[in-house]
Amino acid sequence: MVQDHKLVYAFRSGNADGGKDMKVLLGGKGANLAEMASIGLPVPPGFTVTTAVCTDYVRNGCFPPDLKKQVEAALRVVEGVVGNRFNDNDNPLLLSVRSGARVSMPGMMDTILNLGLNDATVEGLANASKDPRFAYDCYRRFIAMYSNVVLKVNMAEFENALEQTKNKHHVKHDHELTAEQLKKLVNQYKEIVPLRTGNPFPTDPYDQLWGAISAVFSSWQNDRAITYRNINNIPHNWGTAVNVQAMVFGNRGNDCATGVAFTRNPSTGEKQYFGEYLVNAQGEDVVSGVRTPQSINKVGNEGTDADAQDTSPTMEEEMPEMYAELVSVFETLERHYRDVQDIEFTVQNKKLYILQTRSAKRTTQAAVRTAVDMAHEELITKREAVMRVDPDSLNKLFHPTIDRSANNKILTAGHPASPGAAFGAVVFTAEDAVAQVENGKDVILVRKETSADDIQGMHKARGILTAKGGMTSHAAVVARNMGRPCVTGANELNIDFRKKQMTIHGVTVKEGDLITIDGFLGNVMLGKVRMEMPKKSAHYETLMGWADDVRRMRVLANADTPQDALNARENGAQGVGLVRTEHMFFDPDRITVMHRMILAENEKGRRAALDELLPMQREDFRSIFDVMKGYPVTIRLLDPPLHEFLPRTEKEMSDVSRATGINVEHVRDIVHRHHEANPMLGHRGCRLLISHPEICEMQARAIFEASVATGFVPHVMVPLVSTIAEFDEVRKIIEDTANTVSKEMQKLVRYSIGTMIELPRAALRAHELAQSAEFFSFGTNDLTQTTYGLSRDDAAAFIHTYTDKGIMPTDPFITLDDSGVGELIAIACERGRSTNRQIELGICGEHGGDPASIDLCERIGLDYVSCSPFRVPVARLASAQARIKRLRK
Ligand code: PEP
Ligand code: MG
Repeated sequence: MVQDHKLVYAFRSGNADGGKDMKVLLGGKGANLAEMASIGLPVPPGFTVTTAVCTDYVRNGCFPPDLKKQVEAALRVVEGVVGNRFNDNDNPLLLSVRSGARVSMPGMMDTILNLGLNDATVEGLANASKDPRFAYDCYRRFIAMYSNVVLKVNMAEFENALEQTKNKHHVKHDHELTAEQLKKLVNQYKEIVPLRTGNPFPTDPYDQLWGAISAVFSSWQNDRAITYRNINNIPHNWGTAVNVQAMVFGNRGNDCATGVAFTRNPSTGEKQYFGEYLVNAQGEDVVSGVRTPQSINKVGNEGTDADAQDTSPTMEEEMPEMYAELVSVFETLERHYRDVQDIEFTVQNKKLYILQTRSAKRTTQAAVRTAVDMAHEELITKREAVMRVDPDSLNKLFHPTIDRSANNKILTAGHPASPGAAFGAVVFTAEDAVAQVENGKDVILVRKETSADDIQGMHKARGILTAKGGMTSHAAVVARNMGRPCVTGANELNIDFRKKQMTIHGVTVKEGDLITIDGFLGNVMLGKVRMEMPKKSAHYETLMGWADDVRRMRVLANADTPQDALNARENGAQGVGLVRTEHMFFDPDRITVMHRMILAENEKGRRAALDELLPMQREDFRSIFDVMKGYPVTIRLLDPPLHEFLPRTEKEMSDVSRATGINVEHVRDIVHRHHEANPMLGHRGCRLLISHPEICEMQARAIFEASVATGFVPHVMVPLVSTIAEFDEVRKIIEDTANTVSKEMQKLVRYSIGTMIELPRAALRAHELAQSAEFFSFGTNDLTQTTYGLSRDDAAAFIHTYTDKGIMPTDPFITLDDSGVGELIAIACERGRSTNRQIELGICGEHGGDPASIDLCERIGLDYVSCSPFRVPVARLASAQARIKRLRK
């Protein structure tokens, strides 16, 4: 049972029991109504029944004993303020009943308006208003709404009856029906209810009120609301409040109106009042689209096509006094809330009422602009401005986006793995992608899943679509790194590689057909869809400057090519935290040499091939060092198992045989020899470097020769280490190579050597590793995989079951697991620092671009995060926000 005996909070202009900080108890709408009332804004009087009553009602199926008394007492106060009584046959007070949870849940529960009407009170309303048409219009709206929301009668029944009445009287619009015609319609409505529910429509206004309150509370548990909460991570135990308010009428003549307005443009962020309204209408008319609303002023549409066509008068022209009053409310609310407000208002006989205010939902562009403008206006501080923008949403500023005003037909959907939108001709192999692009085509590469040897094709393609895989699959990681839009795990795709076509729900898409993918939403569309191209604004640069001023962690990028590094710099990266060198070997010139190296019979043969690769690698590093002059670069030595470079199919094997001149039996034999049951836990990382020191030597030599030539001090990183002995073994090869290069070039070779921490054992033995390693970089993709024993490539197929059931709060490959993997990182940092106070600590897994994970990195005290070049702005802003949160504590 509810502990607090105050179950009902009253408000009226100039006086309120609650306020804006009481959203937990009063819901967002209730808290803001109380706040507006207490600062003297013209809010119709009313009261809020608390969320605690809702949770109680959901649990026990009944109301606390005190509730009736408190509701009736609050109702008496409302009657006193308005000057007429509920259930009064002469001049009845009518009520609106609305839900209002802690956060807005649009569409969860319909509003009930005009509550309190019956055959007697409607006559009172008709007499008092001297407008029977208005009274019966309210009555028919009320019966339909109440019957639908509370009594669960299908709305279509009432709509059909209304349509028939309009047809019978040859009128087009609802408001053209006369009082008599509406009266007959009301009688028809009243006949529908017993037919469908077995009971007559409730005529006692108090029964109506309790029916409405119960229905709003029960709606918290309807399927729609539960699903909405699941999707939006809203706890199920919050409950909703109920707001009961005196009705004000926007449909009581031509000096009445209703509308919705924003204190700034929610799409662009421009400082201009923006809104729509309708004369002589109730709120639902604006939403239902029966009539086209008019703009409140000329400003919002200026210069647009809509402006050229729109000749209807604005509120500013039609109701200048009301408009001026509304503008003064805009100013008061923005000053008071220090944020853009989304406001609902009604004008009743030339009197303005405010029915709701809340922080306006806005585009990213508008969020950035309003935050910066408000800081310049000294409405908020720069730090508050930095906190106002969702870091994840920043990506929407830089990638082409689908023009959502176009009516796009969605073919299928998958994971929105890499942001942006792209269109192109479908190709099903990486080679076809390369060939088609050379022929001047834009292509979308469609694969079941991708592997390292698809890199060229992925690089050439405009976008990537895979039938399998999740947000950290190969396709997703590589596409994000490259800044290619990508949709993964579109499991409805049925790909027939032989016929070079795919089918989705009976639709066949052949090679060469155009499709569009939307990496923001994970949608796939047939044909070429209209795009929009956003630009970086001065407001964006200002906001990011403020973020950089406050953040503590450095933001680096994972970049494999000079172009990646350039993109990273342009996005504000302060260096490269991870160069994955394996991607450099997939160039057509190199892969054959790589094949010769792997297929070689002995070390001599391998060294001969590596000698050919050396100048190419040296050039790779040199170009990256050139781009990153003055910034640190960390290069990771070869990590994946060698079989990833080898052919798979018979055809690929004979191609390799032809290109290398090695006989196909030998190729097949070597391919089989390299096969591993569990390659992610097999012969890869430092294990490979230890068994093939010549690979390590070649890479170290390429790094040092390039660094001496450019005067760069590189950081060399060893992957997949679990013991100090492993690390020292590889370290020795690197050091020996450095000494050799130094002697050969007669120059001092400067560098540092560190390790990735990707295995739990490495994290636990960090105090040993730190004695030998100069830096740790947490490879959280592998560390998550190995801590959970959960394959990063296979988990996507079932992890959603875990998140849906609440077994895991989020996909741990997207957001770092705070208590498990996070603890291992914290332990490694503490132990590492205990033996090496200078050790540099950072993260380079995909989590380095995820705001929640970045927050954890700040809490743990890492020195930097490194992420895909295109997530660098996200990481800069998220690091700043994490810092501000810590400073506030
Ligand atoms: C990691 O494991 O987090 C990492 C950065 O390495 P990769 O993704 O290349 O395995
Ligand atoms: Mg790794």
